[in-house]
Amino acid sequence: MKAAVLEAYREPLVVREVPDPKPGRNGVVVRVAANGICRSDWHGWSGDWPGLFELPHVLGHEMCGVIEEVGPEVRDLRPGMRVIVPFSGGDGSCPWCKTGMAHLCDDPITVGFTTWGGFAQYVAIEHADFNLVELPDAIDFVTGAGMGCRYMTAFHGLVDRARVGAGEWVAVHGCGGVGLSAVQIATALGANVVGIDIGADKLALAKQLGAVAVVDAGESNNPARSVREITGGGAHVSVDALGIEATCRNSIKSLRRRGRHLQIGITTGAAKGDLSVPIDTIVGKEIELLGSHGMPVTEFPAMLRMVAAGRLDPGKLVTRKVALEETSAVIAAMDDYDTLGFTVIDRF
Ligand SMILES: [Zn+2]
Ligand SMILES: [Zn+2]
Repeated sequence: MKAAVLEAYREPLVVREVPDPKPGRNGVVVRVAANGICRSDWHGWSGDWPGLFELPHVLGHEMCGVIEEVGPEVRDLRPGMRVIVPFSGGDGSCPWCKTGMAHLCDDPITVGFTTWGGFAQYVAIEHADFNLVELPDAIDFVTGAGMGCRYMTAFHGLVDRARVGAGEWVAVHGCGGVGLSAVQIATALGANVVGIDIGADKLALAKQLGAVAVVDAGESNNPARSVREITGGGAHVSVDALGIEATCRNSIKSLRRRGRHLQIGITTGAAKGDLSVPIDTIVGKEIELLGSHGMPVTEFPAMLRMVAAGRLDPGKLVTRKVALEETSAVIAAMDDYDTLGFTVIDRF
Protein backbone atom coordinates (compact mmCIF):
# COMPACT_ATOMS: atom_id res chain seq x y z
CA MET A 1 0.00 0.00 0.00
CA LYS A 2 0.95 3.63 -0.29
CA ALA A 3 1.83 5.56 2.89
CA ALA A 4 3.40 8.89 3.87
CA VAL A 5 6.27 7.68 6.04
CA LEU A 6 8.07 9.61 8.80
CA GLU A 7 11.68 8.55 8.31
CA ALA A 8 13.43 11.39 10.19
CA TYR A 9 12.02 14.02 12.57
CA ARG A 10 11.20 17.35 10.97
CA GLU A 11 12.08 16.05 7.48
CA PRO A 12 9.44 15.77 4.74
CA LEU A 13 7.31 12.60 4.94
CA VAL A 14 8.25 10.12 2.21
CA VAL A 15 5.33 8.80 0.17
CA ARG A 16 6.23 5.23 -0.77
CA GLU A 17 5.06 1.62 -0.83
CA VAL A 18 5.02 -0.24 2.51
CA PRO A 19 3.68 -3.75 3.29
CA ASP A 20 -0.12 -4.07 3.48
CA PRO A 21 -1.32 -4.44 7.11
CA LYS A 22 -2.93 -7.73 8.18
CA PRO A 23 -5.67 -7.95 10.81
CA GLY A 24 -4.73 -9.46 14.18
CA ARG A 25 -7.00 -12.16 15.68
CA ASN A 26 -9.32 -9.58 17.26
CA GLY A 27 -8.46 -6.80 14.81
CA VAL A 28 -9.58 -5.43 11.46
CA VAL A 29 -8.02 -3.63 8.53
CA VAL A 30 -9.75 -0.39 7.58
CA ARG A 31 -9.43 1.23 4.15
CA VAL A 32 -8.85 4.87 5.10
CA ALA A 33 -11.36 7.16 3.38
CA ALA A 34 -10.55 10.43 5.18
CA ASN A 35 -7.93 11.45 7.74
CA GLY A 36 -7.63 14.87 9.37
CA ILE A 37 -4.19 16.37 9.97
CA CYS A 38 -3.96 17.36 13.64
CA ARG A 39 -1.47 19.27 15.78
CA SER A 40 -0.60 15.98 17.51
CA ASP A 41 0.80 14.84 14.15
CA TRP A 42 2.98 17.95 14.22
CA HIS A 43 4.13 16.99 17.75
CA GLY A 44 4.96 13.48 16.51
CA TRP A 45 6.73 14.80 13.39
CA SER A 46 8.69 17.31 15.53
CA GLY A 47 10.10 14.56 17.76
CA ASP A 48 8.27 15.77 20.88
CA TRP A 49 7.40 12.19 21.91
CA PRO A 50 10.52 10.14 21.07
CA GLY A 51 9.64 7.14 23.26
CA LEU A 52 6.20 6.61 21.77
CA PHE A 53 7.19 5.06 18.44
CA GLU A 54 10.24 3.96 16.43
CA LEU A 55 11.21 5.34 13.05
CA PRO A 56 10.24 4.74 10.32
CA HIS A 57 6.64 5.40 11.37
CA VAL A 58 3.28 6.24 9.81
CA LEU A 59 1.38 8.98 11.66
CA GLY A 60 -2.34 9.81 11.28
CA HIS A 61 -4.90 9.33 14.07
CA GLU A 62 -8.08 11.18 13.04
CA MET A 63 -9.83 9.00 10.52
CA CYS A 64 -12.77 7.10 9.23
CA GLY A 65 -13.09 4.51 6.51
CA VAL A 66 -14.48 1.16 5.46
CA ILE A 67 -13.66 -2.21 7.00
CA GLU A 68 -11.76 -4.27 4.46
CA GLU A 69 -10.81 -7.44 6.36
CA VAL A 70 -11.63 -8.87 9.80
CA GLY A 71 -9.69 -11.22 12.10
CA PRO A 72 -11.13 -14.60 13.17
CA GLU A 73 -12.19 -13.48 16.67
CA VAL A 74 -14.05 -10.35 15.56
CA ARG A 75 -17.77 -10.69 16.39
CA ASP A 76 -19.70 -7.56 15.48
CA LEU A 77 -17.85 -6.05 12.53
CA ARG A 78 -17.97 -7.08 8.87
CA PRO A 79 -16.21 -6.01 5.68
CA GLY A 80 -17.98 -3.05 4.09
CA MET A 81 -19.02 -1.37 7.37
CA ARG A 82 -18.27 2.35 7.62
CA VAL A 83 -16.43 3.22 10.84
CA ILE A 84 -14.87 6.05 12.84
CA VAL A 85 -11.51 5.18 14.42
CA PRO A 86 -11.25 7.08 17.74
CA PHE A 87 -7.56 7.56 18.52
CA SER A 88 -7.96 6.92 22.26
CA GLY A 89 -8.54 3.17 22.18
CA GLY A 90 -8.06 0.49 24.80
CA ASP A 91 -7.37 -3.19 25.40
CA GLY A 92 -11.00 -3.81 26.43
CA SER A 93 -10.01 -5.72 29.56
CA CYS A 94 -8.51 -3.36 32.17
CA PRO A 95 -10.62 -1.75 34.94
CA TRP A 96 -10.83 1.52 32.99
CA CYS A 97 -12.05 -0.12 29.79
CA LYS A 98 -14.56 -2.21 31.74
CA THR A 99 -16.10 0.90 33.27
CA GLY A 100 -16.50 2.74 29.97
CA MET A 101 -13.31 4.80 30.18
CA ALA A 102 -11.11 3.19 27.52
CA HIS A 103 -9.49 6.56 26.83
CA LEU A 104 -7.71 6.06 30.17
CA CYS A 105 -6.75 2.43 29.48
CA ASP A 106 -3.84 0.83 31.38
CA ASP A 107 -2.46 -0.40 28.04
CA PRO A 108 -3.77 2.15 25.55
CA ILE A 109 -3.97 1.70 21.80
CA THR A 110 -3.29 5.11 20.32
CA VAL A 111 -3.59 4.56 16.60
CA GLY A 112 -1.05 6.62 14.69
CA PHE A 113 1.33 6.60 17.66
CA THR A 114 1.48 3.20 19.39
CA THR A 115 0.58 1.62 16.02
CA TRP A 116 0.89 2.82 12.42
CA GLY A 117 -1.84 5.29 11.50
CA GLY A 118 -3.92 6.73 8.73
CA PHE A 119 -1.44 8.60 6.54
CA ALA A 120 -1.82 5.49 4.41
CA GLN A 121 -4.32 3.61 2.29
CA TYR A 122 -5.00 1.02 5.03
CA VAL A 123 -4.70 0.84 8.80
CA ALA A 124 -4.86 -2.11 11.21
CA ILE A 125 -6.91 -1.72 14.41
CA GLU A 126 -6.62 -4.12 17.37
CA HIS A 127 -9.53 -5.04 19.69
CA ALA A 128 -11.73 -3.75 16.90
CA ASP A 129 -15.13 -4.74 18.35
CA PHE A 130 -14.28 -2.67 21.39
CA ASN A 131 -12.60 0.31 19.73
CA LEU A 132 -14.47 1.18 16.54
CA VAL A 133 -17.64 3.26 16.17
CA GLU A 134 -20.02 2.75 13.26
CA LEU A 135 -20.27 5.89 11.09
CA PRO A 136 -23.95 6.58 10.27
CA ASP A 137 -24.72 6.54 6.52
CA ALA A 138 -25.93 10.14 6.69
CA ILE A 139 -22.45 11.41 7.64
CA ASP A 140 -19.86 11.61 4.85
CA PHE A 141 -16.27 10.52 5.44
CA VAL A 142 -14.71 14.00 5.35
CA THR A 143 -17.19 15.20 7.98
CA GLY A 144 -16.65 12.06 10.06
CA ALA A 145 -12.84 12.18 10.18
CA GLY A 146 -12.62 14.95 12.79
CA MET A 147 -14.69 12.89 15.19
CA GLY A 148 -11.71 10.53 15.53
CA CYS A 149 -9.67 13.16 17.39
CA ARG A 150 -10.18 16.91 17.62
CA TYR A 151 -13.95 17.06 17.53
CA MET A 152 -14.52 14.25 20.01
CA THR A 153 -11.81 15.66 22.28
CA ALA A 154 -13.63 18.99 22.47
CA PHE A 155 -16.97 17.23 23.04
CA HIS A 156 -15.65 15.06 25.89
CA GLY A 157 -13.89 18.03 27.49
CA LEU A 158 -16.89 20.33 27.44
CA VAL A 159 -19.63 17.80 28.18
CA ASP A 160 -18.07 15.23 30.49
CA ARG A 161 -15.22 17.13 32.14
CA ALA A 162 -16.27 20.80 32.28
CA ARG A 163 -20.03 20.06 32.42
CA VAL A 164 -20.91 23.17 30.38
CA GLY A 165 -24.45 24.37 30.99
CA ALA A 166 -26.83 26.54 28.96
CA GLY A 167 -26.30 30.25 29.53
CA GLU A 168 -22.77 29.92 30.84
CA TRP A 169 -19.87 31.89 29.40
CA VAL A 170 -17.21 29.72 27.77
CA ALA A 171 -13.87 31.23 26.68
CA VAL A 172 -11.82 29.28 24.13
CA HIS A 173 -8.13 30.20 23.97
CA GLY A 174 -6.58 29.08 20.68
CA CYS A 175 -8.94 28.69 17.72
CA GLY A 176 -7.14 25.89 15.89
CA GLY A 177 -9.01 22.71 15.01
CA VAL A 178 -9.84 21.60 18.55
CA GLY A 179 -10.57 25.17 19.67
CA LEU A 180 -12.99 25.80 16.82
CA SER A 181 -14.63 22.45 17.59
CA ALA A 182 -15.07 23.67 21.16
CA VAL A 183 -16.65 26.91 19.89
CA GLN A 184 -19.24 25.02 17.84
CA ILE A 185 -20.00 22.41 20.53
CA ALA A 186 -20.24 24.88 23.44
CA THR A 187 -22.59 27.01 21.33
CA ALA A 188 -24.79 23.97 20.68
CA LEU A 189 -24.84 23.29 24.42
CA GLY A 190 -26.39 26.72 24.92
CA ALA A 191 -23.30 28.54 26.17
CA ASN A 192 -22.18 32.04 25.15
CA VAL A 193 -18.76 31.58 23.62
CA VAL A 194 -15.81 33.97 23.40
CA GLY A 195 -13.07 32.91 20.97
CA ILE A 196 -9.50 34.14 21.52
CA ASP A 197 -6.67 33.88 18.99
CA ILE A 198 -4.02 35.96 17.22
CA GLY A 199 -5.24 35.03 13.71
CA ALA A 200 -7.96 37.16 12.11
CA ASP A 201 -9.02 34.25 9.85
CA LYS A 202 -9.39 31.96 12.88
CA LEU A 203 -11.47 34.56 14.75
CA ALA A 204 -13.70 35.07 11.71
CA LEU A 205 -14.33 31.33 11.51
CA ALA A 206 -15.01 31.23 15.27
CA LYS A 207 -17.75 33.81 14.73
CA GLN A 208 -19.23 31.78 11.88
CA LEU A 209 -19.28 28.73 14.17
CA GLY A 210 -21.23 30.55 16.88
CA ALA A 211 -18.89 32.68 19.02
CA VAL A 212 -20.81 35.72 20.32
CA ALA A 213 -17.56 37.65 20.78
CA VAL A 214 -13.93 37.30 19.76
CA VAL A 215 -10.72 38.72 21.24
CA ASP A 216 -7.59 39.32 19.21
CA ALA A 217 -4.84 38.24 21.61
CA GLY A 218 -2.22 39.84 19.37
CA GLU A 219 -3.51 43.38 19.54
CA SER A 220 -4.90 43.16 23.05
CA ASN A 221 -2.14 43.24 25.65
CA ASN A 222 -4.37 41.46 28.09
CA PRO A 223 -6.84 39.02 26.51
CA ALA A 224 -7.84 37.65 29.93
CA ARG A 225 -8.95 41.12 31.02
CA SER A 226 -10.90 41.50 27.76
CA VAL A 227 -12.71 38.22 28.48
CA ARG A 228 -13.52 39.31 32.03
CA GLU A 229 -14.97 42.56 30.68
CA ILE A 230 -17.05 40.86 27.95
CA THR A 231 -18.41 38.28 30.38
CA GLY A 232 -19.13 40.66 33.26
CA GLY A 233 -16.57 39.25 35.69
CA GLY A 234 -15.11 36.19 33.99
CA ALA A 235 -16.08 33.05 32.13
CA HIS A 236 -17.63 30.05 33.89
CA VAL A 237 -15.49 27.71 31.79
CA SER A 238 -12.27 28.54 29.97
CA VAL A 239 -10.44 26.22 27.60
CA ASP A 240 -6.74 26.12 26.76
CA ALA A 241 -6.97 24.49 23.37
CA LEU A 242 -3.29 25.02 22.52
CA GLY A 243 -1.01 24.11 25.42
CA ILE A 244 1.49 26.96 25.55
CA GLU A 245 2.10 29.05 28.64
CA ALA A 246 0.36 32.17 27.32
CA THR A 247 -2.91 30.39 26.49
CA CYS A 248 -2.88 28.34 29.69
CA ARG A 249 -2.31 31.38 31.94
CA ASN A 250 -4.76 33.53 29.99
CA SER A 251 -7.38 30.81 30.29
CA ILE A 252 -7.07 30.58 34.08
CA LYS A 253 -7.07 34.37 34.40
CA SER A 254 -10.23 34.61 32.24
CA LEU A 255 -12.32 32.81 34.83
CA ARG A 256 -14.77 34.10 37.41
CA ARG A 257 -14.72 32.75 40.96
CA ARG A 258 -15.28 28.98 41.05
CA GLY A 259 -14.62 28.86 37.31
CA ARG A 260 -13.48 25.68 35.56
CA HIS A 261 -10.25 25.65 33.51
CA LEU A 262 -10.25 22.91 30.88
CA GLN A 263 -6.82 21.85 29.63
CA ILE A 264 -7.04 20.20 26.21
CA GLY A 265 -3.83 21.42 24.55
CA ILE A 266 -0.64 19.52 25.31
CA THR A 267 2.74 21.19 25.67
CA THR A 268 5.45 21.42 23.03
CA GLY A 269 8.74 19.58 23.24
CA ALA A 270 10.45 22.71 24.56
CA ALA A 271 8.11 22.92 27.57
CA LYS A 272 8.43 19.16 28.27
CA GLY A 273 5.03 18.95 29.93
CA ASP A 274 5.46 21.80 32.43
CA LEU A 275 3.90 25.26 32.29
CA SER A 276 3.85 27.95 34.95
CA VAL A 277 0.33 28.67 36.23
CA PRO A 278 -1.04 31.49 38.44
CA ILE A 279 -1.42 29.61 41.72
CA ASP A 280 -2.71 32.55 43.79
CA THR A 281 -5.52 33.12 41.31
CA ILE A 282 -6.42 29.41 41.47
CA VAL A 283 -6.52 29.52 45.28
CA GLY A 284 -8.20 32.89 45.69
CA LYS A 285 -10.94 32.22 43.15
CA GLU A 286 -11.36 28.52 43.96
CA ILE A 287 -10.62 27.60 40.35
CA GLU A 288 -11.04 24.00 39.21
CA LEU A 289 -8.35 22.59 36.91
CA LEU A 290 -9.62 19.84 34.60
CA GLY A 291 -7.61 17.75 32.15
CA SER A 292 -9.22 16.08 29.17
CA HIS A 293 -7.85 13.40 26.84
CA GLY A 294 -9.65 12.00 23.80
CA MET A 295 -13.07 10.45 24.34
CA PRO A 296 -14.24 6.95 25.21
CA VAL A 297 -16.42 5.15 22.65
CA THR A 298 -19.21 5.09 25.25
CA GLU A 299 -19.79 8.83 24.71
CA PHE A 300 -20.17 8.55 20.92
CA PRO A 301 -23.94 7.87 20.83
CA ALA A 302 -24.68 11.25 22.46
CA MET A 303 -22.41 13.12 20.04
CA LEU A 304 -23.67 11.27 16.96
CA ARG A 305 -27.29 12.00 17.92
CA MET A 306 -26.47 15.71 17.97
CA VAL A 307 -24.74 15.44 14.58
CA ALA A 308 -27.68 13.49 13.11
CA ALA A 309 -30.12 16.09 14.45
CA GLY A 310 -28.13 18.89 12.81
CA ARG A 311 -27.17 20.53 16.13
CA LEU A 312 -23.49 19.77 15.53
CA ASP A 313 -21.74 19.82 12.14
CA PRO A 314 -18.05 18.88 12.18
CA GLY A 315 -18.06 19.33 8.39
CA LYS A 316 -18.27 23.10 8.87
CA LEU A 317 -14.74 23.04 10.27
CA VAL A 318 -13.25 21.48 7.16
CA THR A 319 -11.60 24.24 5.13
CA ARG A 320 -9.35 22.17 2.89
CA LYS A 321 -9.17 18.68 1.37
CA VAL A 322 -5.79 17.38 0.20
CA ALA A 323 -4.11 14.32 -1.31
CA LEU A 324 -1.79 12.10 0.76
CA GLU A 325 1.18 13.63 -1.07
CA GLU A 326 0.31 17.09 0.38
CA THR A 327 0.28 15.90 4.03
CA SER A 328 3.88 16.81 4.75
CA ALA A 329 3.47 20.43 3.68
CA VAL A 330 0.35 20.82 5.85
CA ILE A 331 2.20 19.55 8.93
CA ALA A 332 5.20 21.80 8.25
CA ALA A 333 2.85 24.82 8.01
CA MET A 334 1.80 24.13 11.61
CA ASP A 335 5.23 25.48 12.70
CA ASP A 336 3.72 28.91 12.08
CA TYR A 337 0.12 28.04 13.04
CA ASP A 338 -0.56 28.56 9.36
CA THR A 339 -3.56 26.23 8.97
CA LEU A 340 -7.25 27.04 9.41
CA GLY A 341 -9.88 24.65 10.78
CA PHE A 342 -9.56 21.03 9.65
CA THR A 343 -7.42 19.99 6.70
CA VAL A 344 -8.49 16.48 5.71
CA ILE A 345 -6.74 13.99 3.42
CA ASP A 346 -9.40 12.49 1.15
CA ARG A 347 -7.25 11.08 -1.68
CA PHE A 348 -4.86 8.24 -0.95
ZN1 LIG B 1 -5.31 14.72 17.11
ZN1 LIG C 1 -7.99 -0.97 29.05
